[in-house]
Amino acid sequence: MDAESLSAALLELEDEINWDAAAMLDRAVRLERQAHLLGDELLAARARLSQANLRMRAGDVAGAAQRIWKVHQWAVDHGARQLTARTHLVWSNIHRHLGDPAQCLEHAVLSVELLDETATDHMRIWHRVKLADALAFSHSIDAARHRFEQAERLAIEHGRPDLRLAVLNNFAYAEYTAGNHEMAERVAQRLQQHAAEHGFELDASLLDTIGLIEIGRGRFAEAVHTLEVCIERHRTGREDDADALPEYLLTLAQAQRGLRAYDRAQASLDASRDLCLARELGDVLVRVHQEQAELHAARGEFDRAYEVHKIFFAAFTSLHSRQREAQARTRQALFETAEARQEAERFREQARRDPLTGLRNRRYLDEQLPGLIDTDPGLVVAIVDLDHFKRINDQLSHDVGDQVLVQVAKLLETELAAISKEAFVARLGGEEFVMVLPGRPLSQAAEELDTIRRAVRRYDWATLTRGLPVTISVGLSGLAETESDNLLSLADRNLYAAKHAGRDQVVHRGTHAAAA
Ligand code: GH3
Ligand code: MG
Ligand code: MG
Repeated sequence: MDAESLSAALLELEDEINWDAAAMLDRAVRLERQAHLLGDELLAARARLSQANLRMRAGDVAGAAQRIWKVHQWAVDHGARQLTARTHLVWSNIHRHLGDPAQCLEHAVLSVELLDETATDHMRIWHRVKLADALAFSHSIDAARHRFEQAERLAIEHGRPDLRLAVLNNFAYAEYTAGNHEMAERVAQRLQQHAAEHGFELDASLLDTIGLIEIGRGRFAEAVHTLEVCIERHRTGREDDADALPEYLLTLAQAQRGLRAYDRAQASLDASRDLCLARELGDVLVRVHQEQAELHAARGEFDRAYEVHKIFFAAFTSLHSRQREAQARTRQALFETAEARQEAERFREQARRDPLTGLRNRRYLDEQLPGLIDTDPGLVVAIVDLDHFKRINDQLSHDVGDQVLVQVAKLLETELAAISKEAFVARLGGEEFVMVLPGRPLSQAAEELDTIRRAVRRYDWATLTRGLPVTISVGLSGLAETESDNLLSLADRNLYAAKHAGRDQVVHRGTHAAAA
């Protein structure tokens, strides 16, 4: 599979709102493997985000949270704007599951702010819907309404009646949960009209929303009918979430209670309860208890209503404490991945430092130099080597030699910082160092390096070396006088010349001299 078809396959997962999470997760895992085979990090990151999203949909919020952090950081570090917008959307959904409206809203806002010309039509519409959902979740229904309307207009403009249906569904549900039953009904009517015009069959989840709204408006007979169709569609339609059917049965029970069909309501409620128990659906079960208490009360069985209400209250409290525990676990997972990242950065930084002197090392130099060469046509490098260093090791000790290296490193660093803030010094190995200075005339650099040379010589070494002098020889070269490929070797040849001419000096004779 080439990158283009892989990207198209991923887009199918990304720009989709109704899928069978388990099957799609398999697919996302396979697509990630393909992306790795192609060595395409962006495609791999997209596949991982799809996986995180699908995990969340399958109920594994902590697992999703753990994965999304890394994808998000990758996207930010690589300026992958579209991917960043998508990660914010998944973040937002994670926080909704965690019951955190503030974070849910913040990420939803970012997911919309980051939309640019690279965003797909689906993103333009759907990210606004999720922002509207987040606003409704934060009890800002007026602001939510504005966003739903905006998303609906976009769905019309982009010719996406399927998305318009989804917009209207979320819109109606948001109005319903805000307690605006009349408004909810108007949106639900538009939804049904729109579906009829385009020949969309209303799926079970849409019918459940409509049924709830009908109950809210006191139209119980219509609601019972809607829910019966809903449950029938659920039976014949595509795979639904585990809590879907018990939810529908619960809504049906509410509608039947409204109609005073208490026995039928009890039967629906019992069916819902059985499923909740079999599938361990704690949050739906809590609402089943609540409805049971209402049903007893409606029948005038106040003692039993009171007993069930107590059960409801205990289940409600325990559900909330379990939700809080799940929240804590997810936050812990987020924290641990953030910590692991910092750890990795510390390691990265450490790997680019010389342990003895604390200076940058050769690895850092090798990484930095090509970029500096590309951007600075006057770049200057200097190779610094200690003179007769072997004597210090031999006549004093290797340990004193180490201390001398540490002190020379300090001197080189502070003296160089006084010359240029952008310059840096790295230890190449042994008693050899490299200095990299931003563009300047070579004669000027030679003078500057000479002040460093003198500072090393002048330093009071007596206590450390018992009278043995410590001096350095320096070979210079600059991009102004040589090709980038020769930069370091020319500096090295000039260093050799400095040694040859008696040490403790700076040489920058240039290509002609070095060629000799
Ligand atoms: P020249 O003036 O020609 O550069 O003479 P030199 O003695 O400085 O050069 P040479 O390359 O012969 O010796 C370098 C010595 O540096 C040899 C090696 O044992 C010592 N050396 C290399 N790395 C370290 C280190 O980390 N610590 C200590 N103490 N010595 C080191
Ligand atoms: Mg030496
Ligand atoms: Mg040497």
